[in-house]
Amino acid sequence: MKKILSKYSFGVGDRFAHQAKPQLKAMIKAKEAGCAITPVWNKSYREHEIIGSKSLTTRSAVDKAVADLNWDEPYFLDADHINLKNVDFFIDTCDFYTIDVADYIGRSIGGKKQKIFYEKNKNFIGQLEFPGIDSIEVTPALIQAVAEKYLYAIYEAKKIYDYIRSKLGDGGVVIEISMDETDKPQTPDELFFILAGISELNIPINTIAPKFSGSFNKGVEYIGDVSLFKKEFEQDIAVIELAKKEFGLNPDLKLSVHSGSDKFSIYPLMNEVITKSGAGLHLKTAGTSWLEELIGLAESEGDGLEIAKHVYSESYKYYDQLCSPYLSVIDIDKEKLPTPDEVNRWGGETFSQTLRHDQDHPLYNLNFRQLLHVGYKIASKLENKYLEALVANEAVISKNVTENIFHRHIEPLFLGR
Ligand SMILES: [Zn+2]
Repeated sequence: MKKILSKYSFGVGDRFAHQAKPQLKAMIKAKEAGCAITPVWNKSYREHEIIGSKSLTTRSAVDKAVADLNWDEPYFLDADHINLKNVDFFIDTCDFYTIDVADYIGRSIGGKKQKIFYEKNKNFIGQLEFPGIDSIEVTPALIQAVAEKYLYAIYEAKKIYDYIRSKLGDGGVVIEISMDETDKPQTPDELFFILAGISELNIPINTIAPKFSGSFNKGVEYIGDVSLFKKEFEQDIAVIELAKKEFGLNPDLKLSVHSGSDKFSIYPLMNEVITKSGAGLHLKTAGTSWLEELIGLAESEGDGLEIAKHVYSESYKYYDQLCSPYLSVIDIDKEKLPTPDEVNRWGGETFSQTLRHDQDHPLYNLNFRQLLHVGYKIASKLENKYLEALVANEAVISKNVTENIFHRHIEPLFLGR
């Protein structure tokens, strides 16, 4: 069987390699509801490094979940946000590579290559027309700006892709290029010419992850103009369709949204657009299952709740250290964090409701949630004590993990309900 992503695919994160099964159960529920979704387990080098884990541990947990639940559809392991320096860490275990070129955006490759790029693409000067949505105006300045700002990054992606191909051969792996962890969004008109450059260098990408307007902070709601996002998302999809025709890119090429999880206000709009256009979509989530682990532990009371409280009080203490790798994707109002003393007096219900992403609940605190989102290093320091608690409280944790993925993410985004 040739392994390919289906039209819809969903990236889940599993920090401690204990939630693959309940995550896969969410995909099974989607399948039962008539929606085929390819599950992808993504874990970045940053995450592995912070807790000292190995990619093989994720691979083993995922393979076991797939065997135990008799999943006979494709599934992937995503080496998330990689570059030439850390790709080897993943090469024996992963079959999905997210080549992150954000650090190279804005570097100039020099006049000669830029001029060739311009000459190749100047025939697009004028209007790019799309059925049913606003057209895009292409000016000489736009093509020149893309060449100046992105061509270097595309050449860098090519180097990383060539390295992966030299190790793993052609085909069988999914290739994504990501540009999301940067300051400024890539607009749809830029995306069209970025795809021109990717095609020119023969990088056979299956997914592309631009940065969108608005903020996609980790584990919390989207902040920004939702109607602007919708317009951009719709145009990006149209641009990808046109680029496939114009540049001969992979027919299954689709957009990947590095959502940072929990973007409930935009899932219905995204569903509307993908349903109307018939386009595919990859949604990458992160850390949302780890927070469900903590919710499950808290709900279990006793030792589980004690562990959840310990993770919070230590996270509070090591605030700066834990937040520093994530500064561009979190926004915590420190004044609104409860003190550890306060939290230590809470019962499991108060802890879980303060953490759970239910924006209508009076106890929900997005600052508390974001701090715990980056607090997983504290749990990793507990080593077996933490892992044993996951096993001891598996039933209640699993229920939360599956429900969260299926109910809060898959249902509104892919099932339109
Ligand atoms: Zn990302």
